[in-house]
Amino acid sequence: MEGWLNGVGPILYVNNHVELKEMNRRTAIGNMGTGILALGLIADWRTATALDTAENSLLNPNDKYPKPPFINQSQPWPGLCSKMQPRPDHGEKSYKGSDRLKDKKALITGGDSGMGRAAAIAYAREGADVAINYLPEEEEDAKEVIALIKEAGRKAFAIPGDLRNEEFCTRLIEEAVRQLGGLNILVNNAARQQAKSSILDISTEEFDATMKTNIYAPFWLIKAALPHLTPGAVIIGTTSVQATDPSEDLYDYAQTKAATTNYIRSLAKQLGPKGIRVNGVAPGPIWTALQVSGGAMPEKLINFGGDTPMGRPGQPAELASIYVQLAADDASYANGQIYGAAGGGGQP
Ligand code: NAD
Ligand code: MG
Repeated sequence: MEGWLNGVGPILYVNNHVELKEMNRRTAIGNMGTGILALGLIADWRTATALDTAENSLLNPNDKYPKPPFINQSQPWPGLCSKMQPRPDHGEKSYKGSDRLKDKKALITGGDSGMGRAAAIAYAREGADVAINYLPEEEEDAKEVIALIKEAGRKAFAIPGDLRNEEFCTRLIEEAVRQLGGLNILVNNAARQQAKSSILDISTEEFDATMKTNIYAPFWLIKAALPHLTPGAVIIGTTSVQATDPSEDLYDYAQTKAATTNYIRSLAKQLGPKGIRVNGVAPGPIWTALQVSGGAMPEKLINFGGDTPMGRPGQPAELASIYVQLAADDASYANGQIYGAAGGGGQP
């Protein structure tokens, strides 16, 4: 089975011993020196043995993924998950489907990376055809997702474009409906987050970009999608713990998440009578491109997720099943709900 050794990276547990994965063997030796590495492997032997035993029973969620400190890193916005260290887990190797979304048709904004990518992979493996939207700069990430959807035996459509533009939002829905042959699941997941220590550092243009991406785009997309949605369809929004517990350096972003939670609850009441469910997912700190491309201050990034009760950030893969659950027909009484995944902190 696969595991994680802090400071080294991905490892394989083979018959009770630890093997470094080829890709990180050289880095590990370069970074740590062979002596320290050997000590690390001996120390991790115990973990490996425990995990091997645990394989048949329970896995401690706190040890499942990398913990801080993370190496200092930054990318120009919007960032690529493929360039992050360590690379986030979107369920590429782990998510197993069971036809929970058989033959549904889904559009996911921000489907190239992070939570959107985890949802796209899971939806395809649950039997849905999936269209993803993203920015042209993210083509590299998007290509990987398209390949994974196709590998799952489903139809995949890439529709890049900027959601800050109303005309594009309308076109995106029309294009998705045409290519998918209808629309049953709309996931409004894309967002802009740029941390600024003072409100004085936020220009009107930046404030406007955050509002356009996080508040206007879902408004435009939902308006364009509604005529195509029939009873049984769902709308899912990605909100945040920031909706209820805003950070001092996310003045503009946090209020857009309060708006997201609010529109979900309002629309659920408006569309419930039509048989269309509207729900949200409220992540806590999750290891995604948004955080390394200006979303988190450098000093916060190094200790990212370290102040949660689990001592680590979440990975997008850990939220995939929530997006599936909210879209699945057996969640038919979930409407106007916000499902949280924050590692012990925050309130949905
Ligand atoms: P991410 O960077 O992987 O995904 C965000 C996506 O938004 C990008 O991939 C990009 O394609 C898209 N996007 C941004 N501006 C756009 C624009 N103008 N036009 C088109 N697409 C645009 O990061 P993520 O963390 O997976 O973010 C997904 C959602 O999760 C967001 O709504 C974010 O607010 C929310 N969220 C994230 C965290 C976290 O800690 N990562 C916590 C709470 C909520
Ligand atoms: Mg992206």
